[in-house]
Amino acid sequence: MAKTPQDLQIAILGAGMGGLTTALALAQRGFKNIHVYEYASDLGFVGAGIQLAPNMARVLDHLGVWKGIEAEAVNIGDTSVRDGATDQELAHVDLEYIKKTYGYPHMVGHRASLANGLHKGCLNQPNIKFHFATTAEDVEFGQKPSFTAVPRNEAEKPYKVEADVLLGADGIKSNTRVAMLKRLDVNVGVKDTNQAAYRIMIHKDQIKDDPELLALINSTRVTRWIGEKRHIIAYAVSNNTIYNLSTTQPDSNFAAATNATYTTKGSKPAMMGVFSDFCPMVQRLLNYVPEGEVCEWKLRTHDPIPTWVHESVALVGDACHPTLPHLAQGAAQAIEDGAVLGVVLARLPDTTPESINKALRVYEKVRKGRAEALVEMAAASGRALHLGDGAAKEERDRQFAALRQGKGPVPDKWADADVQREIYGFDCTKVAEDNFDEYFSQM
Ligand SMILES: Cc1cc2nc3c(=O)[nH]c(=O)nc-3n(C[C@H](O)[C@H](O)[C@H](O)COP(=O)(O)OP(=O)(O)OC[C@H]3O[C@@H](n4cnc5c(N)ncnc54)[C@H](O)[C@@H]3O)c2cc1C
Repeated sequence: MAKTPQDLQIAILGAGMGGLTTALALAQRGFKNIHVYEYASDLGFVGAGIQLAPNMARVLDHLGVWKGIEAEAVNIGDTSVRDGATDQELAHVDLEYIKKTYGYPHMVGHRASLANGLHKGCLNQPNIKFHFATTAEDVEFGQKPSFTAVPRNEAEKPYKVEADVLLGADGIKSNTRVAMLKRLDVNVGVKDTNQAAYRIMIHKDQIKDDPELLALINSTRVTRWIGEKRHIIAYAVSNNTIYNLSTTQPDSNFAAATNATYTTKGSKPAMMGVFSDFCPMVQRLLNYVPEGEVCEWKLRTHDPIPTWVHESVALVGDACHPTLPHLAQGAAQAIEDGAVLGVVLARLPDTTPESINKALRVYEKVRKGRAEALVEMAAASGRALHLGDGAAKEERDRQFAALRQGKGPVPDKWADADVQREIYGFDCTKVAEDNFDEYFSQM
């Protein structure tokens, strides 16, 4: 048996935002044997932007990787919610206050910048070993959880890996979740949301002769254009050199399910058709994307699962709380998971499987309610944004209008100050540290 918690063998399945953060958080707390198994052959290049909310930045800063990520990101000054068809502004919210209030600004960046920043942090830790191009299959439970590692290179034979703690950070299609639910005889499958997303990026030199679009890319504004059952959210990333657009629309083109490496191809003419009634400027913008560079995939979630933990196995990130992107919190929540796992495993009083299970259940207690509330809020925000004509839309637009007088809630929950307080004001590391002893003793 391991002598100290730091001697435990830790297996992390998946090197997404959740897996990388978990590895880094554990390495920084002195864990010596951290192995990360990743299906893809490297971190890959995901051509998409990502919002770096203050609650995410706080964790990344504690882990010492925020400065590099921040240097390439764009600090958001304000957000404008606009009618897609007319480009008329429905609401405008100033976001400059966020840094003063929460200690970190709200930024937006390139996904590759976030993933590489975390990965670089991990590479500085000799105790983290990466096993790329390796699929984890057949997760088994027990005193020592295990799985079969299947190398992509067929010349290498599959091999069994045993660990003291197994953390399934293997995304929406998580094999670990499937194995855990099977073991618990629980039936919660992944479900289609009937929504799909296009993600595209436009480089500054492509729009250099278009002053209206140059103004967008040079700004620090997040713009959301909304229409019935559809919207586009857009912002500049990479020091204002790339304009990133992410859409949501009904999944009528049969988008591919998210695959492990996020490389899905969408059709540009189909995308132009989906937004054909949006204003000319938005259409011009979409039209700049080169054919072949449209990514499209299904947005999927699943209902809350009864537990994220079984024996010495825990789920992390999208494996246990996949969320719609409308609140921009999926990766932030996976990153919070990783930080909390670092706390609870470092606070283990001994290395018995019983204590490991109790500590993992403390992780679940700190994280599950919060993550699932945000999943539900993201879904509700999507419903409000996508309303067609009718009383509900009139009420939503009345709320948007009231905002011009500085009153009331924002139907786009992402931009609502009360929601921001709940999400950005939460210091997950501190909550885990402050409550560990009490929660552990209750398990
Ligand atoms: C359109 C869109 C926009 C978004 N925007 C934002 C945003 O602005 N802000 C934000 O915080 N979040 C955002 N998100 C959510 C965010 O992308 C996800 O929540 C986040 O990436 C989840 O991280 P993860 O590590 O849990 O899973 P993933 O990133 O899916 O990583 C899982 C990893 O596990 C690997 N893997 C899978 N199966 C296996 C296996 N069997 N063996 C080994 N490896 C395996 C995969 O290759 C992958 O690398 C958005 C999502 C979408 C779809």
